[in-house]
Amino acid sequence: MVVRLWGVRGSSPTPLAPEELRSKFAAILQRAKASDLENSETRQRFLSRLPRGLFGTAGGNTACIEVRTKQNACIILDTGTGLRELEKRLKRERDSVKEFHIFLSHFHYDHLLGLPYFNLLYDPTATVIFYSPYPAMERILDEFMRAPYHPVGWDSFAADIGFCVLAKNEKVTIGGAEVSWIRRNHPNGCAAYKVKEGNRSFIYSTDTELTEKDFERTERNLAFFYEADAIILDAQYTLGEAIEKYNWGHSSYSLAVEFCREFHIKKLYLYHHEPLNDDADMEKILRSAILFDNRLENGGPLEIDLAREGHVFEL
Ligand SMILES: [Zn+2]
Ligand SMILES: [Zn+2]
Repeated sequence: MVVRLWGVRGSSPTPLAPEELRSKFAAILQRAKASDLENSETRQRFLSRLPRGLFGTAGGNTACIEVRTKQNACIILDTGTGLRELEKRLKRERDSVKEFHIFLSHFHYDHLLGLPYFNLLYDPTATVIFYSPYPAMERILDEFMRAPYHPVGWDSFAADIGFCVLAKNEKVTIGGAEVSWIRRNHPNGCAAYKVKEGNRSFIYSTDTELTEKDFERTERNLAFFYEADAIILDAQYTLGEAIEKYNWGHSSYSLAVEFCREFHIKKLYLYHHEPLNDDADMEKILRSAILFDNRLENGGPLEIDLAREGHVFEL
């Protein structure tokens, strides 16, 4: 499967602020030597060696992840503002896919804000199926997309639209991949999803406040998390913030690292970035997470990175 990250920010969309952009430019220019600027090749080399937090940004769009199975089925995890970037790529690359399987973790705004602008809802040749374990999904989405919040409602959408409420332990097969879910600890609830294709597995676990219960090696936890190849996991806070914001529904990066170690997960993408953090703050969190991981002895080797908008990886 191929996984594309379209929205990685938590809570509210966070465009790169002009002041941050200006300070990135200033810091880049300060690093440049005359020899770096000689020709296009040296300039390219100079740019490619810059720290990632300086040349680029982790991104400001909210929750949206795309998974393409080997059979090219399109699975979308959440419909935050990143959904527009997903749609832009479909258009730019003339992607012919017309069937979209949208799994919603929960209904907080940062996970829905892109949905009213998903133009494929107006396409009579498209099929859009929504999945969630919440029986009220259809009603909630109906209320979310109607006047006066949005000029048109569901009766204006020409696509073939379906809703699938997932039962406890239910697994659905889409394009040769199996999607399963598990409940997470978050205000108003949240579902994490696992996409399994052959012997590869990817987990999307946004908006999760990890508790002792999550670390228990129950049959259910082991079946879902053990030895997953990659996880996108809520790591919005530092440990201090997590203590201060107890019960707000998000985890610290250190708990996220410990959790991956406990379940021998191979790759961790820190996710749901705090909107108050700039790129420098997030790179600092990444370095701290790696240092923290180096001190742990249980579990297997763990690779850690920030979830970065536009990043693509294959499993
Ligand atoms: Zn969220
Ligand atoms: Zn939430």
